[in-house]
Parts: sequence; C-alpha cells; structure tokens
Amino acid sequence: MKISEFQKLIEDIYFVKDSTRGPEKSFLWFAEEVGELAEAIRKGDKENLPEEFADVLAWLCTLASMMDISVEEAAKQKYAKGCPYCHSTPCKCSEA
Ligand SMILES: [Zn+2]
Repeated sequence: MKISEFQKLIEDIYFVKDSTRGPEKSFLWFAEEVGELAEAIRKGDKENLPEEFADVLAWLCTLASMMDISVEEAAKQKYAKGCPYCHSTPCKCSEA
C-alpha cells in the first residue's frame, strides 16, 4: 500500500468524524498516540509496537488530510533526493 492509498483509506474511515472535531483537538489524540508508541518502545513491548506505529501514522494522515496536505507528496518533496541538508544518502551531517 502506498502512503497516499493509506491516507485515502484513513480519510474514508475517519474524515467526517475527525474534521468535525477539528485539527487542534485531533492533534491531542495524535500526541497521545505518540506517547503510547514511546511507552511501547520504552517497555520493549514488541507485541504492541506494530499497532502503535499504525496508530501514529493514521493520526498523522488524518491531520494532514484536514490541512489539505498529501503526506506522500510532502515526504517525497523533502526526502526523495536524500538528506535535505547535506543532500547525501546516507546523511553525512554531523550530530553537533
Ligand atoms: Zn544530512
């Protein structure tokens, strides 16, 4: 499944509900899911990791849809040519 297909799937399932709630409130749900992913990573909870990654991506996509952004296009624009700062793949930027 392409990112654009996933974003469309999430729109089909949730767009009406999510856009009624609005981006500010939906962002709180996104942040909560990021917290659940952090907890799963911290606890080494491998059983729940796939679900938490899926939830974070779903909330990211629904927020993008509300803001009329294509996640696939945005990601392609920024990263298709490698690191946006040093233009290398893999990145050669120093951490400092
Ligand atoms: Zn770089």
